[in-house]
Amino acid sequence: MAQVTCSFCGRNKKDVDLMVSGISAHICNFCIDQAHLILGEEDKTKKSGATKPKFKLKKPKELTSYLDQYVIGQEEAKKVLTVAVYNHYKRLQQKDDHDEIKIEKSNVIMVGDTGTGKTYLAKTLAKILEVPFCIADATVLTEAGYVGEDVESILTRLLQSADYNVEAAERGIVYIDELDKIARKSDNPSITRDVSGEGVQQAMLKLLEGTMVNVPPQGGRKHPDQKMIAVNTENILFICGGAFDGIARHIGKRLNTQPMGFAKTSDTPQADRENLLQYVTAQDLKAFGLIPELIGRLPVLTHLDPLHKEALKRILTEPKNALVKQYTKLLAMEGVALTFEDSALDFIVDKADEYKLGARGLRSICEAIVTDAMYELPSDDSIKELVIDEDYARSQFDKSKFKRLQVA
Ligand code: ADP
Repeated sequence: MAQVTCSFCGRNKKDVDLMVSGISAHICNFCIDQAHLILGEEDKTKKSGATKPKFKLKKPKELTSYLDQYVIGQEEAKKVLTVAVYNHYKRLQQKDDHDEIKIEKSNVIMVGDTGTGKTYLAKTLAKILEVPFCIADATVLTEAGYVGEDVESILTRLLQSADYNVEAAERGIVYIDELDKIARKSDNPSITRDVSGEGVQQAMLKLLEGTMVNVPPQGGRKHPDQKMIAVNTENILFICGGAFDGIARHIGKRLNTQPMGFAKTSDTPQADRENLLQYVTAQDLKAFGLIPELIGRLPVLTHLDPLHKEALKRILTEPKNALVKQYTKLLAMEGVALTFEDSALDFIVDKADEYKLGARGLRSICEAIVTDAMYELPSDDSIKELVIDEDYARSQFDKSKFKRLQVA
């Protein structure tokens, strides 16, 4: 009779403890153990999702506490954004479990005055999450075929920030600035072609929703010789922002015709006239000139509060990389102890408020005040201390031809 051997390792029946026989094959106890180990490893890999990109997702509250270290105020925007981001990345981690519930993408749109922190919020979030990030300006985009950049060019920058790692770019964040500038000029669909407005909105739809896009790796116009890189935008989070100048008027009008209004006699809650943006709805965006299809692809809508003097003062001193901290560090490297008196901070804030530049103005005003000292002190070893009070700040500011700096 033929010898019984293991069909996997070839061991003889007499050399093993157990041989299991099938219809036309045998397996020994060693190979059964081996197979069991392999099964266990496979199972672990599946459970840890090791086939998906490695990514440590932080919870909304965790994200907010990071954001708080850099961005002052904007509680509402922080909450809405962190939830949207959290859900977006949870969506990426969902298993293809073939049930009916598909989590949809949560692209975001932020409405808020210039210099209130829209870009800064998006950028800081991307930094915390360690995902590729880029900023695109909606005003330079045009429909394919016109002079300007095609919408695909947005992704060139994302690819560059991901070092051309397509897989990483495909889970990145794109911030599209000045979305309000591609609004169509009236609420009525135009009969003539609107190159800078509605056409671009149309071109953006697929990108926001999720599609395969051929991206020119070096940007610029599509060139027949340029080898394109295919990028899937399905898992890219798009965050759009804009000042939407004048939208407060739409909001005010809408509120006046609704139960919540300005009428002093009624018992209904009074709207906060100072910050109408907090009541912004999709309807207002449509009235402003965004097409409903685009609004539909930006389902998460939030606003940024105007930065009052108190917030501007906190921005000067509190964030991790606050301007006052930066100047103090720079001068400390020269052996000079710098202090800003409270009165000087108030002066800077008053000027930023006066010039209506939001937080962005703080930097150029500070530069105007400290530049002389930054010029003189490195060459003068005798000075070990600099105290900037209101008088010093004012005299430096008045000398500075600040009007030229206004275009910060
Ligand atoms: P925009 O709303 O126009 O996109 P940015 O986010 O570009 O404004 O803000 C410009 C700069 O002002 C930022 O780089 C940041 O230094 C500062 N800044 C704006 N808003 C805040 C804020 N809420 N907290 C801290 N810094 C801010």
